[in-house]
Amino acid sequence: MDTAFAGSWEHAVVTGGAGFVGSHLCTALLDSGTAVTCVDDFSTGRRENISGLLGRPGFTLVEANVSEPFDVDGTPDLVLHFASPASPADYLRLPLHTLETGSLGTRHALALAHRAGARFLLASTSEVYGDPQQHPQNERYWGNVNPVGPRSVYDEAKRFGEALTTAEAEVHGTDAGIVRLFNTYGPRMRGHDGRAVPTFVRQALEGEPLTVTGDGRQTRSLCYIDDTVRGILAAAAHGLRGPVNIGNPTEITMLELARLVIELTGSHSQIRFIERPTDDPAVRCPDITLARDKLQWEPRVSPEEGLRRTIAWFRDQARGDRTPSGS
Ligand code: NAD
Repeated sequence: MDTAFAGSWEHAVVTGGAGFVGSHLCTALLDSGTAVTCVDDFSTGRRENISGLLGRPGFTLVEANVSEPFDVDGTPDLVLHFASPASPADYLRLPLHTLETGSLGTRHALALAHRAGARFLLASTSEVYGDPQQHPQNERYWGNVNPVGPRSVYDEAKRFGEALTTAEAEVHGTDAGIVRLFNTYGPRMRGHDGRAVPTFVRQALEGEPLTVTGDGRQTRSLCYIDDTVRGILAAAAHGLRGPVNIGNPTEITMLELARLVIELTGSHSQIRFIERPTDDPAVRCPDITLARDKLQWEPRVSPEEGLRRTIAWFRDQARGDRTPSGS
């Protein structure tokens, strides 16, 4: 990870900092000289994700549910609000927690940024586009979301979070931006979190069949974690208001992804087709023109390279190497 943001901030708060994306953000910020307060309730995060950070100067852990009012020591100049269950398995298991984190949690994180006069960045998602009728999706597209479907607890919580962030910027003048992350993958994902990459990699390494939903022709665009973190920090540093897509426009079908994982792991696993979940989007691909123009950001890591690094990390984990630093 480059440290192009060195010196940009003195003190950042990362809610959800013990999660997959959040822990990589904490590491990148600390590496660039920013003190970091991680606020997490460990509802879906893991202690081992931040165990390597706990002894580092400048790193503080606050164990709290952001749906309740919370505070941190000091005066942060950046608040990155990343707390939220993110994998379908998690938010379907935690529907009310997900809605509360996206609404009350966002309110409290915004209040902290307002009190401190900090820059605020909301982690939103490509899920705000739902099952999109426009392809690829740019930031001006309003989406096609079922407000009462099983995924709505996540999609609508994020849409509400975006509305709240926009209103706070209007009412209080908070310097607030929104990153709409598309599927991100890499080390520190949980093999059982239900998302395609960790599921396929775990299944391939364990010699189990790779479970592809539907006919496998649905597409996703997968962004390697280092690229995503660079994009998030570029959006934080730029001061851009309003949403910006951060994702990799290289689109891949789930069947192609399964075959690629089998090839790169050298596994003898077969592919098994299983039922497709309700409201599962058929296509997903970001238009990243805005990020390219405003942030001079685009992904650098190819799917093959990102998957190789991810597979290597999962192999280390299986061997019992619990070092969480991989990326
Ligand atoms: P994750 O589940 O690994 O991390 C989420 C973290 O938030 C966990 O550490 C969890 O314990 C914490 N958390 C959840 N609810 C909380 C609460 N009420 N109070 C305090 N902490 C809480 O998920 P992730 O993949 O790292 O996603 C992080 C953020 O990025 C989420 O906001 C998610 O919506 C967004 N995002 C991720 C992706 C992706 O592909 N990973 C894509 C789009 C958006």
